[in-house]
Amino acid sequence: MKKNDFIIIAIVILLAIGGIFYLNVLKSQSGRIARISVNEKIFREIDLNTIKAGESIEFDVANGHSHVVASAEGIIMAHSDCRDQICVKTGLISNQGEMIVCLPNKIVIEILGNTDSDDGVDVISQ
Ligand SMILES: [Zn+2]
Repeated sequence: MKKNDFIIIAIVILLAIGGIFYLNVLKSQSGRIARISVNEKIFREIDLNTIKAGESIEFDVANGHSHVVASAEGIIMAHSDCRDQICVKTGLISNQGEMIVCLPNKIVIEILGNTDSDDGVDVISQ
């Protein structure tokens, strides 16, 4: 085997390892969009992958006001003017598909997947 062949093979292997690593990073970052909906309308969308410091979001709702805190760890209903306090008791959510619901104030906070990973295409098999 020539020396050049060995270099090419080494580069191919390195690219393959790099590609796998890159895909894993993308995978681990999917499901990190937090969407806050009020009255079935999208109020805010926060990308938890790129958020740096904790973000405090306060807004008026039917029964008073709500206070949501988003950070890289996830999103939490810190305070809500509602009778049942179910939304506050839900605590921190951070995984795709998780939800905080406040029925009295018609607030839904959900963690969505990245649009890229939601199209069902398996990148590895291509
Ligand atoms: Zn509530």
